[in-house]
Amino acid sequence: MTETTTSRAFTPSANVAFLKESATIAVSARARALKAQGRKVIDLGAGEPDFDTPEFIRRAGQRAIDAGATKYTATEGIMPLREAIASQTSARWKGAPITAGEVVVSSGSKQSLFNACFTLFGEGDEVLIPTPSWTSYYEMVALSRATAVPVMGDATRGLKVTAALLEASATARTRGLMLNSPCNPTGAVYSADELRDILDLADERDWWVLSDEIYRRISYTGPPASVLDLAPRRDRLIVIDGVAKAYAMTGWRIGWAVSPKAVSAAMGALQSHTTSNAAAVSQHAALAALTDTAAAETAITKMVAEFQGRRDAVVREMRAAPGLEFVFPEGAFYLYARVATPRGGDGTAFAAALLEQREIAVVPGAAFFTPDWVRVSYAAPREQVIAGVRAMVELYASFAG
Ligand code: GLU
Repeated sequence: MTETTTSRAFTPSANVAFLKESATIAVSARARALKAQGRKVIDLGAGEPDFDTPEFIRRAGQRAIDAGATKYTATEGIMPLREAIASQTSARWKGAPITAGEVVVSSGSKQSLFNACFTLFGEGDEVLIPTPSWTSYYEMVALSRATAVPVMGDATRGLKVTAALLEASATARTRGLMLNSPCNPTGAVYSADELRDILDLADERDWWVLSDEIYRRISYTGPPASVLDLAPRRDRLIVIDGVAKAYAMTGWRIGWAVSPKAVSAAMGALQSHTTSNAAAVSQHAALAALTDTAAAETAITKMVAEFQGRRDAVVREMRAAPGLEFVFPEGAFYLYARVATPRGGDGTAFAAALLEQREIAVVPGAAFFTPDWVRVSYAAPREQVIAGVRAMVELYASFAG
């Protein structure tokens, strides 16, 4: 058969026609491409710990390969990992112990969030998304054919939403809400009282609560409240977590959802037709991360202390910059700054100029539905973080005139 030289146009299906590429991932890809061209880019875009995965976890992965963990596993994950997750989660829950049957392990918390949205929401449903929020929440809800309803956070409370703000955006079609504390992109942490008010409202309205707790271990003011400590019941609650951020295991791709049994079964069925099980080797490495608690605590404490040192340094730099508003980060590893000036310009123009003129990559706030802002990730070596924030402050001063 002869090959034709013309190719036919591709029209994306309605399933994805509206989708934009993930901006957080696109910024890192752009920084990598510029580095490959020999430019000295400082990448403060990626929300990815710059530490190596702790050695005891790497060794567990190597042992798993040698022991033959190279086959399919149960779609929902290997039983010891599900049991370890159930037991750690139960420790925060006052009710009957959570069982392995309520845990589905996936290829990253991103997949678990998608599974949850796709399983719970559909056409005609509205889902409240505290804004700013991580870019993928909005798209996951849309992929589920539901409507994402951004609820703007209160500027006087670190851009966090309150029960009253959520209530004001609710309609008869509201089916659920997303929660994320510590928050990506702001680093804000919800207090127990703030969360309790929101959970009570959700309970009263019979809304699903999807609580993304992936940054829970990275907090600078003690352990942040988990919805599990506070929720009146669990029958509308999905808790999503993973090993990526706290254990520096982004590339291993292991996350999970803890949900009522019927929801877990539905998410397992969905996953059985999409990715099946998460990588077997990675599951064994994650099992070591969760069960060798002494080694894990030592590693996490060290990484969080370093993040906190960087957080302090970043805040010092920002406080020296008059007029540049930011959210005080109490957790995660992000700084959120409002870079629009009275003379105009927005986060997109600012991020482009910062990359072009100073070779520093940050994520424009448009990705998080707040275009006047930019997100700086301080999951990068401290001297790079300081240099990056200084350059940002200088650029802002030149924009603000
Ligand atoms: N969640 C991280 C971020 O916000 C990693 C990239 C992604 O999955 O979005 O940068």
